[in-house]
Amino acid sequence: MAVVAVTWASSRTMRWFEQQSLRRQMGAVARVLAAQLADEALDQPGPGVSARCEKADRASGLRVTVILPDGTVAGDSRRDPAAMDNHGDRPEVRAALRGADGEDRHFSVTVRRWMQYVAVPIHSGNAVRGVVRVSIELEQVTAAERALRGKLFGGSVVVMLMAWLASLVVARGITRPLAAVDEGVRALAAGDLGRRLPGLSIQELDDLSTTVNRMSMQLRERIDTVTRQRDEQEALVSCMAEGVLAVDQARRVIALNRAGEALFGLREAEIKGRSVVEVIRNADLQLLIEKTLASDAQVEGELFIPDGERFLQVNGRLLRGPTEGPRGAVLVMNDVTRLRRLEGVRRDFVANVSHELKTPITSIKGFADTLLDGTHDPETSQRFLEKIAKQADRLHALIEDILSLSRIEHATEREAIDLSPGPVGPVLQAAVRTCQAAAAARGTKLSLACPNDVTAKIHAEMLETAVVNLIDNAIKYGGENQTVSIRAERREAGCQIEVQDEGPGILRQHWDRLFERFYRVDQGRSRSQGGTGLGLAIVKHIALVHGGQVAVTSEMGKGSTFTITLP
Ligand code: ADP
Repeated sequence: MAVVAVTWASSRTMRWFEQQSLRRQMGAVARVLAAQLADEALDQPGPGVSARCEKADRASGLRVTVILPDGTVAGDSRRDPAAMDNHGDRPEVRAALRGADGEDRHFSVTVRRWMQYVAVPIHSGNAVRGVVRVSIELEQVTAAERALRGKLFGGSVVVMLMAWLASLVVARGITRPLAAVDEGVRALAAGDLGRRLPGLSIQELDDLSTTVNRMSMQLRERIDTVTRQRDEQEALVSCMAEGVLAVDQARRVIALNRAGEALFGLREAEIKGRSVVEVIRNADLQLLIEKTLASDAQVEGELFIPDGERFLQVNGRLLRGPTEGPRGAVLVMNDVTRLRRLEGVRRDFVANVSHELKTPITSIKGFADTLLDGTHDPETSQRFLEKIAKQADRLHALIEDILSLSRIEHATEREAIDLSPGPVGPVLQAAVRTCQAAAAARGTKLSLACPNDVTAKIHAEMLETAVVNLIDNAIKYGGENQTVSIRAERREAGCQIEVQDEGPGILRQHWDRLFERFYRVDQGRSRSQGGTGLGLAIVKHIALVHGGQVAVTSEMGKGSTFTITLP
């Protein structure tokens, strides 16, 4: 724009200057002629004045006209003065007639060109005798002028081109680093925190890029720290054996750890952000959440999950942010199902034991009272005393069994049982010897088959107790004059000890429950045989202590087989 303005202004100035100098030249030519004509007679029209005019025209290239004070043309270098009209009203002529130099420029209708006129007075003393007017077609001039203007414009175009090129180079120098900064900052904004901005040639931009780099480094460090802390916390929470459920104020799930997922059979990713009422349909849980959200203190409660029959012990607390008020609630859930079941088992056991103890004690007390009551014949007294002794034996057996069961349990809990590898044969022989008398009393034959190479990691005393219990049951429930076979074998699964009788057998529905404490197929029969109901429970515990198991198979009318498998 500056170049255009300067070009325009200088072209104007040049033109003005040109015209000025043209006018001056024209004035000079006119004045020379005016001086020559000062003393000549002008008013006789004739070839004299016109000849002078033509001469001057030839010398200067200007049309020359001489005009008298009344406006009539006295001579002209290019036309016949007689044919020319009065020039007294022309502005340049009027000015010259008043004694000053006159000039004018107008479009000549005669020649159809722009004309420049300059007129000077012809003085004679103080009077004006006439006017010399010179004129030129302006087009001649503009041709020269145009050439000059062309050069001017050409020059300015070159200058503009150079200016454009220069500014292009300078702009490039600025925009390229700016583009680099822009690209780098965009990458940072998109999360590429490892991105570094390049060093830049422009100082201010270089400073900016250094600052941005430092900022992104700090940001990355902070994000790393936060991420690490979050990961640690997540790992901590997810490793917890307790289920952790966090909800916000709007009761939407914030988090559920792995243990929690297992408890509710849900996946955190699927329920995150959803309403807890919608995803976990448990009235007790909703109640606990409401209680926790409403209370500042720790809330405790119990939950029952019908799915999988689980009991949960729940501790709820408000979830607080570092500054603002509560953000929700967090519930820590302990699976106490096993504990509850154990409690149930213990309760049942205590009730059963009390019941079992009560029966013999009631009979003992009854017989003793009767004996104390009065005089009985020695025979009756003897019978009563025998009954008392029998009940006492039963009590004794019961207490023995309870104690040995509790000993085994105790030892198992403390893992204080020493198993050592050894042959199984001698253990079975000892058990058979122990039962020999009872077997003989019922006419039962005991047959033992055990190869020498059958060995296992055993606790000999306990294993003997277990086998004695099995042989004892076989004798008791197997009927008279039968054979009880005791066998040991090496199998793929381990060492198998079998005790087989030829008794009435056991119905299938009892097989699973047979090893529970105080479970009896036939209460009366068991009692009359002096059974405590704990024999098979003890066998089962001893098998478990050995890392093995016990099982029963039976065919009604043909007999039962109890098998202890040891690894
Ligand atoms: P108990 O002291 O009553 O014998 P156990 O635990 O030893 O208690 O046995 C549980 C029940 O299993 C017994 O009451 C009996 O009904 C049944 N039982 C055990 N062994 C045999 C067997 N060899 N034949 C038939 N029934 C048996």
